[in-house]
Amino acid sequence: MAIEIVKGDITFEQTEAIANAANSRLAGGGGVDGAIHRAGGPAIMQELKKKYDTCLTGHAVITGGGKLKAKYVIHAVGPVYSGKSKDAELLAGAYRTSLELCTQHQISSVSFPSISTGAYGYPVREAARVAVRTVREYLNTHPEIKLVRFVLFDEETFKTYQEALAFNGNAQSL
Ligand code: ADP
Repeated sequence: MAIEIVKGDITFEQTEAIANAANSRLAGGGGVDGAIHRAGGPAIMQELKKKYDTCLTGHAVITGGGKLKAKYVIHAVGPVYSGKSKDAELLAGAYRTSLELCTQHQISSVSFPSISTGAYGYPVREAARVAVRTVREYLNTHPEIKLVRFVLFDEETFKTYQEALAFNGNAQSL
């Protein structure tokens, strides 16, 4: 298994799936959500509207990738940061259910943005640790997933994820 940490724009990723930091109304919005819908075109929103009503916080739903290179978009809903212990459970849930969707759809490579650390206010250091730990735990028992990339938009977030990966163990970082 491999976990990679890279700096960049997730809309250019060539993994089979990319994850989106969506909101529970699946309504699109700013940040990475807006960027993915802009790059992927209207087909993604059309499919969301057709198939799903809303998505609970801590869960995820899947659509095709529209015009993106990625074949699928996994719309994961992280928590708005509250400072309570349930934040970490919900954030871990967003990553875990995204990975479960990969398993169900035979997707062996997926890229994640830093869910919840933009508009949703989750401190990056805490979020990075939850993200790395959750992905690593899942990969340990799911060899069908070969590659998980964290694609971080800014230098600060990129460095913090690198630290979390080093802190948490033995995977490679780019
Ligand atoms: P949330 O509402 O879950 O906090 P945001 O989209 O506001 O989601 O922010 C999540 C993270 O995604 C932030 O670190 C932000 O800088 C980053 N981001 C924004 N645009 C992109 C992009 N095109 N590719 C990757 N990450 C992005």
